Amino acid sequence: MGDKRISELVRPAIRMLKPYSSARDEYNASRDSMVFLDANENPFGEGLNRYPDPRQRLLKKKIAEWRGIPEDHILLGNGSDEVLDLLFRVFCEPGEERIITLPPTYGMYKVLAGVNAVENTEIPLDESFQPRVSDILKEAGPDTKLLFLCSPNNPTGNQMAIEKIEALLRAFPGLVVVDEAYVDFSGSQSLIHKIGEYPNLVVTQTFSKAMGLAGVRLGMVMAHPEIIGYLNRVKPPYNVNELTQRRALEAFDHMDRINEQISLLLEEREHLEDKLAKLPCVQAVLPSKANFLLVRMDDATRRYTELIQQGIVVRNRSNQHGCENTLRFTVGTPEENQQLVEALERLCNTAES
Ligand SMILES: *Cc1c(COP(=O)(O)O)cnc(C)c1O
Repeated sequence: MGDKRISELVRPAIRMLKPYSSARDEYNASRDSMVFLDANENPFGEGLNRYPDPRQRLLKKKIAEWRGIPEDHILLGNGSDEVLDLLFRVFCEPGEERIITLPPTYGMYKVLAGVNAVENTEIPLDESFQPRVSDILKEAGPDTKLLFLCSPNNPTGNQMAIEKIEALLRAFPGLVVVDEAYVDFSGSQSLIHKIGEYPNLVVTQTFSKAMGLAGVRLGMVMAHPEIIGYLNRVKPPYNVNELTQRRALEAFDHMDRINEQISLLLEEREHLEDKLAKLPCVQAVLPSKANFLLVRMDDATRRYTELIQQGIVVRNRSNQHGCENTLRFTVGTPEENQQLVEALERLCNTAES
């Protein structure tokens, strides 16, 4: 980022914005024994009649302890989708500024760019699915506000090399957003511990994958407190509802169970990888650091349709850059993985008539 200040990257409208101050900003109804006649709520009820804590203080405290970073480095939202959208709205001037994405990768960055009228410059990953650092930096300029790196990457499953990420953090003129949705399956440390070193590093994580809570919709951004401060100005006050906050807090009482699930999924991933590699219709199983496998097939579209007919839904990634003839298999329960393998054994061993 050089010597640029974060405030210089923020859209002028957001820099000048005075955020809405909600009734529940100052006093928290669930904790204080006060009379709350400030928010026009229905007074009858056991908690859900009240607006949720707009700053999610209890939950953030837990997350801060869990991840080992200060609470003021964290912003929570309605899934990663919302927190990624907030980054666009704070940093990218519609119709004028750009982002850079590295296909094949998570499709949401491009969709959000479209929604926000922000141009998306694509610089494909190299043949090992690593970022082409010098090509990215050649394309970068004062108008490229966000660079999205997904590590482990969806759909390829590999991690981006740390030297490459750090080279980009040092030289990219905007923010480098590292999407760590799958970090807990990777066996590697999160990059959040480098936020102090790189003020332009933004890490996103989610409760949807390893934490097993895709249904509650909870995403996180972790970054320099100044970035978090700007995101807080734009986020809707009650973007994380009371049920979500409660359910996410509960998850911390069962961390041993969650860790067991992660270990089981990693064992299953290895097992599935071995089984798939032996099938005649499988050309290659790409090494994965996530809870899915990208698999190169003989004819991905045909196998996709045949699997649907067997009642098994997978993802066809064949139209993604560098992913010709690939299917993405999420690692399921041992029984589900067995069903997938058996179905493919039947399909692959059937001679064509
Ligand atoms: C699944 C996934 C997410 C999670 O999105 P949520 O909105 O938090 O459910 C984020 N990034 C990537 C790359 C993913 O694959």
